[in-house]
Amino acid sequence: MTAPPAASVTSEGTREVPIVIEATGLTKRYGDLTAVDHLDLRIREGEIFGLLGPNGAGKTTTILMLTGLTEPSAGEARVLGADPVREPLEVKRRVGYLPEHVALYDELSARGNLAFTADLNGIGAAEARHRIDAALDRVGLAVSAERKVREFSHGMRQRLGIADVLIKRPSLVVLDEPTLGLDPVGVEELLDIILTAAREERMTVLLSSHQLMQVQRICDRVGIFSAGKLVASGPIAELAEQLAEGLTVVEIALSPATPEAAAELRRIPGVVDVTPEDGMWRVRAHGDVRSGLARAVVQRGWSLTHLRQRDFGLEEIYLRYFEGQP
Ligand code: ATP
Repeated sequence: MTAPPAASVTSEGTREVPIVIEATGLTKRYGDLTAVDHLDLRIREGEIFGLLGPNGAGKTTTILMLTGLTEPSAGEARVLGADPVREPLEVKRRVGYLPEHVALYDELSARGNLAFTADLNGIGAAEARHRIDAALDRVGLAVSAERKVREFSHGMRQRLGIADVLIKRPSLVVLDEPTLGLDPVGVEELLDIILTAAREERMTVLLSSHQLMQVQRICDRVGIFSAGKLVASGPIAELAEQLAEGLTVVEIALSPATPEAAAELRRIPGVVDVTPEDGMWRVRAHGDVRSGLARAVVQRGWSLTHLRQRDFGLEEIYLRYFEGQP
């Protein structure tokens, strides 16, 4: 018997959101290489969680362990209350998994592929028809339902892959690099499909990617992986706040852009440092120093060509972890 996901009632009587994925010390070694190193992770029901990291960081290995497709060398996991090592079939039944390379039958139509999946999952013919129509509709492939997958573009295949995952109405969906190789419009479309499906069907989503902007757009929280270790995790705004260390960052470009001018900017009250960056200067400061900077430029008769307070986004967070620079 599989336990339901951990849900509890707090002392105030409110229901705590159940934990859907829980990993404790999860580790995978391939010989001398530790692909995933003591991963501790908790993902709650309804969250869209982004697993971020460069190639080889351990994202796919983590996904394979969580979905019962490979055994950990140490540690343990619970996915929807089930143990992927001891109850892999239970996990596979309840988790919708879209691998990096979607496996589809080229000689079958889109509908034929989904019917095959429905059949494998023991879904009756009438219910299968209903679910297939709904899934094709959701991913915008209703008009191509009868076309053979052989004729599908990469974007259409990815969308059909999502439909295939939705057929069994999973409460957790795991997507490994779903937007890899798509053009920008295809990426946007696929992300919208994932976001809408997650919200409307109350699904939890674990999404791996190394494409930052898309993760930033749809994920509630992210985990940053580096060489098998989770080096940071949390809502993007929180990670950004930690990274900013209470300082604001302003980009400024002016003429003449001499070292003397930079030294003058450094003397403005509140400014902590001024560093050159992409033909501009990056000014770190306590509080909003934009008016002070603008005044200084005008008073000295220089011309100001650019002034912008920068929001810390995922790009800065990522660079900080992977290149050691904010
Ligand atoms: P990518 O974005 O390139 O898929 P990833 O973050 O998903 O990268 P993994 O595929 O999990 O990374 O790989 C983590 C490390 O484990 C890599 O160094 C990889 O070479 C190694 N690895 C993965 N699978 C195996 C395997 N079956 N045998 C040996 N080494 C492996």
